[in-house]
Amino acid sequence: MAASRLLLIAATLLGAVVPLGAQERPLVVLDPGHGGDQPNVVVGDVHEKDLILRVAFAVGAEFVAAGYDVHFTRTRDVGVEWADRRGQAEEAGAIALFMLHAMRADDPAVSGAEIYHDATNGPSTALSNALADQLRALGSRVLVEDRPDWPFLKSTTVPTTMVELAHLTNAEDLERMLDPAYHHVLGRAMVAAVEAAGGG
Ligand SMILES: [Zn+2]
Repeated sequence: MAASRLLLIAATLLGAVVPLGAQERPLVVLDPGHGGDQPNVVVGDVHEKDLILRVAFAVGAEFVAAGYDVHFTRTRDVGVEWADRRGQAEEAGAIALFMLHAMRADDPAVSGAEIYHDATNGPSTALSNALADQLRALGSRVLVEDRPDWPFLKSTTVPTTMVELAHLTNAEDLERMLDPAYHHVLGRAMVAAVEAAGGG
């Protein structure tokens, strides 16, 4: 029996409060895209960098509620280098990295999500496909695409998926993305994807 396990039992018997760290909760890293001088998609007064940060916080709350620890690559309006986003996840020993984005299209009729991954990486592919299943169950059209040449998707240690959650140029998608309750729905979908892909 591991020493930490014995300590946990001893602490429980003594009625002591067990520090959170002692419970070894699996860690998920959430990466809100862009930030700082890069708003990226702008539709009216909606800036992708700000909207996606709010989405990330709600998603994080759902992971915490489901028993995970969460690390954010940014928690305010600052730019973060691509390599640093992946690097933070690797350094933290994450079981999953979600790179969160929203997109636009010239045709306002185009809606739905797009998910990018490195298809040569089994765990990243499993996570991406599980997330696609979850988003389809929410009624989104979802494309899953292989991006073997995007270095920030390549990690030998952390299953990584990049998701464009919706088209902000589509009225229905935008309405849903501006609803704080939907951010939590997305969070529960990501928790379910991690669990379906074998994490957690
Ligand atoms: Zn983006």
